[in-house]
Order: sequence, then structure tokens, then C-alpha cells
Amino acid sequence: MQDDSEATMTRRGIGSKNLLGTTANVPHGAAAVTWPGQAFWGNSGPRGKTCRLCSFWRGGSYREAIGSLRDASCAKFESLMAVDTGPQFPHSACACKYFMEKADPPPVNRV
Ligand code: SF4
Repeated sequence: MQDDSEATMTRRGIGSKNLLGTTANVPHGAAAVTWPGQAFWGNSGPRGKTCRLCSFWRGGSYREAIGSLRDASCAKFESLMAVDTGPQFPHSACACKYFMEKADPPPVNRV
């Protein structure tokens, strides 16, 4: 079970590339918690869940020196945008409405 602390640590983003230009029906504060490359607004998914826990997040490799998860892209974004590779963003990004629980999410740090 994921607590709120990981989502709370999420750095502020500027909004998803596929959502730029959208001015109607933007949830209050949504752009501030959405990274470029996310499939939909951050925090539109299950409360407290992050992209690390989602089947669509492509992460799973670690930084050599410090052993923390590398940023990665979202397969759902790539499908929606019809691109091969989307922008990479941190595992701690707040989940969006397309969140699909991953059975075996990678740990935050290499073990
Ligand atoms: S919750 Fe899943 S579908 Fe949504 S942006 Fe994160 S990785 Fe992509």
C-alpha cells in the first residue's frame, strides 16, 4: 500500500504535452502536479498512488551511483499521442485517471 508521502514529494511540473492548449475544464491546481509526458492530469487518479505503481510507467532501471529509480516515460501517453517515446518523468509523479495497478512495481531504491 502506498501512502501519501511519495505523491507529496512530487516536484511541480508544467503540464502534459498532450494537455497543452487545453483551457477548459482544467481541475484547480492540476497543471502544477502534472509532468510533461503524463497521459492525463496528475492527481486525477487514485489518491496517494504514483506512476511508479502503474503498469504504464516504463521505469525500472536505476541510477548507477545512487541506486535510485531513473525517470521514465508512460506507455499510455505514447499510445494516445501516437509517438514512439514520450518525455521521461519521475516515479513520484501523482497518478492520473488511466492508472492501472502494477502487480510488481519496482522499489524506489535498488535493493
Ligand atoms: S498513472 Fe500511469 S497512465 Fe497515468 S501518467 Fe502515470 S504512468 Fe501514465
